[in-house]
Amino acid sequence: MNKPKLWEDELQYRRTILRVLLVVIILFCSLASTTQFKAGNLLYGLLEVSLVGMAIGMLVIHQKTPNLTRWSAVLLFFCFNTILIGIFNQTTRSFLFNWLCFIPVLSYLLMGLRTGFIFSVVYLVAGMGLLIWRLYLPAPDVTRNALINLGSCAASIWAMSHVFEAKRASMVGRLQKLAETDSLTGLHNRLHLDSIFQQLTKGQRGQPTLIGMLLLDLDKFKTINDSYGHDAGDQVLMTVSTLMTDICRGGDWAFRFGGEEFCLLIPGVSSEMAIQIAERLRESIAATLVNVGEHQLRVTASIGVANWPMDGAGLSQLYKVADQRLYTAKNSGRNRVMGSDYIRSN
Ligand code: GH3
Ligand code: MG
Ligand code: MG
Repeated sequence: MNKPKLWEDELQYRRTILRVLLVVIILFCSLASTTQFKAGNLLYGLLEVSLVGMAIGMLVIHQKTPNLTRWSAVLLFFCFNTILIGIFNQTTRSFLFNWLCFIPVLSYLLMGLRTGFIFSVVYLVAGMGLLIWRLYLPAPDVTRNALINLGSCAASIWAMSHVFEAKRASMVGRLQKLAETDSLTGLHNRLHLDSIFQQLTKGQRGQPTLIGMLLLDLDKFKTINDSYGHDAGDQVLMTVSTLMTDICRGGDWAFRFGGEEFCLLIPGVSSEMAIQIAERLRESIAATLVNVGEHQLRVTASIGVANWPMDGAGLSQLYKVADQRLYTAKNSGRNRVMGSDYIRSN
């Protein structure tokens, strides 16, 4: 749904690879095109010049474009077809076949597993097919052994590129999950809040919706740690996180901000509904007994409620309002919900 920070890093990594490729294209194709023109190979020379033009254009836009994969696909489409046309063109010798080995590497690195696989299949099969066709020309400039070697080499590079990209993508996925998850409770962590909030404020199909933010802090939690130990405290934190996920509907987001501070983002609710949900959560926490060894612990929570967009246009303003209300709830005796014009205790 959302594209958190690591995804940005992922695109940055592809941008760097693309930049290297663009420089290679500009240098190599400029040189190669002059050779083609000298040899009277006007059309192929022009093709290489247009590739240089395209690479220069992409060098200008590649840092900013949000459609990096799409642009990479367009570039590789032209690159790979230029290689195939070069192999097909009888006046160009078959020396272009070396470049076939680059096809899977570039496809997977720049476009990921799925599109990389499709490009690799199409262009490697087409390239090898053309070379086999050249083998049967009256005066072939490739040998059967050279082709067998090239085919094996390209297939090995293809297999390795596929395995590399599959492993890399799953590792990035795991890292991403770790980076946005609180290790104790399994809830989302604060790092993930910003991207989720941005996504929610855009709403479904561009229709913005109201959002309720519940900021929750456990009351006198330190005394639980001090009296029963840190493990007992952790047990309480896990129980509270379960109560929070129980209260979530599909589309709601539960976070642990660290320590004993939690947050719920609830899209599509009015201020009154957000307060009602906060009240239900407060009651369920207060009513739950946490079993720790032979002890049964009871914990309460204070909750500050803020609403988007009424209480603030951005996340930091909204958080500030929710935090102030949480502070007021604490100062009013704890185990309370504090909303905009509403305060209730048990
Ligand atoms: P208040 O009602 O004013 O919020 O009081 P409090 O005791 O809950 O607040 P305080 O900020 O003084 O204490 C929070 C405690 O939470 C202190 C710290 O030891 C404990 N804590 C922070 N992170 C963890 C954790 O991951 N596990 C456990 N068990 N305790 C934690
Ligand atoms: Mg506390
Ligand atoms: Mg606290």
